[in-house]
Amino acid sequence: TQTILLKNRPEGKPTLSDFEFITEDADLNIHSDEMLLETIYVSVDPYLRGRMSDAKSYVAPFELNKPIHSGVIAKVLKSKNDQFSAGDYVSGMLDWKTKQVSKGDGLLKVDKNKAPLSAYLGILGMTGVTAYCGLTQIGKPKAGETLIVSGAAGAVGSVVGQIGKILGLTVIGIAGTDEKVAMLKSKFGFDAGINYNTTKDMKAAIAKAAPNGVDIYYDNVGGPISDAVLFSINKFARIINCGAISVYNNTETPTGISVQPFLVKNSALMQGFIVSNFEEKFPEAIKHLSEWLAEEKLTYTETIVHGFDNIPKAFIDLFDGKNKGKMVVEI
Ligand code: NDP
Repeated sequence: TQTILLKNRPEGKPTLSDFEFITEDADLNIHSDEMLLETIYVSVDPYLRGRMSDAKSYVAPFELNKPIHSGVIAKVLKSKNDQFSAGDYVSGMLDWKTKQVSKGDGLLKVDKNKAPLSAYLGILGMTGVTAYCGLTQIGKPKAGETLIVSGAAGAVGSVVGQIGKILGLTVIGIAGTDEKVAMLKSKFGFDAGINYNTTKDMKAAIAKAAPNGVDIYYDNVGGPISDAVLFSINKFARIINCGAISVYNNTETPTGISVQPFLVKNSALMQGFIVSNFEEKFPEAIKHLSEWLAEEKLTYTETIVHGFDNIPKAFIDLFDGKNKGKMVVEI
């Protein structure tokens, strides 16, 4: 079995040397209630960066010299567990290992005839549910309003914008390349896109793209991009703080946003969002996402990287915007 351990807590942007590959002669014999799993797909996600540091957060940090874990799709090779049979596919939080023994805690069966297996890590998994719950529960969208999404061509952002369109909003996306901005419009049906890497005056570009102002800001990136959006918010705007990837690798303590007056004068709501706090909404989210996919109102893109050895690199590449849609590693 091959395993990936967290070797160092990254300083700034993670590097390959923060990870260690080991090959173990692990005991893969299964006992009562256990099953042997083979990893098929591994999800790499920006939030894993937070777990690699030891700062207090909403989930415990990864332990040094222990396997990293994330969302995984695995095949059941052998089973002595009543809930799962050999040949089943499961989804859940599992170690970065090629094979592992599990009791099935927290694992769900997934049906590869209903959707491609990797989709259960993206649009039909945590990222799809994040997009749905954040937008509907905190964004409280009303048809005719204007939504801006940052990280718009990524896994969460591309779904947020499409749900916005389904709900009758005007949708503007912010992303890091011209190719991504073009894709926002051509593939995901956004009304407008802004490339933050080539736009000199983001405040002016946002004001121009949103002539009626911004009612909902779905924020995946934080930092200066978000400050620029807040200049254009409307009265009673809702701001969903889903993520802040632009500052995850900062080594200095953040000093906060400089645009609070815009929140005050617009009676705006800015709320931190953690998907796991909305568990009671997951069935509703999955139902809508599956229906919209079947009706072709929703589509998705994945960046699939091949090979167990490339998991750390795929993770690091998230911080360079190498992915379009969900970044997944196929083993
Ligand atoms: P993405 O698929 O969006 O991948 C990350 C993207 O972030 C990159 O493709 C890149 O796109 C963009 N990015 C990277 N660095 C920067 C930067 N410095 N400034 C601006 N953009 C940058 O990842 P996810 O969809 O999985 O996650 C999106 C956000 O949502 C993350 O912040 C994540 O932590 C958060 N999240 C939060 C959850 C919650 O429960 N709160 C659950 C799931 C995700 P580009 O080329 O456009 O720069």
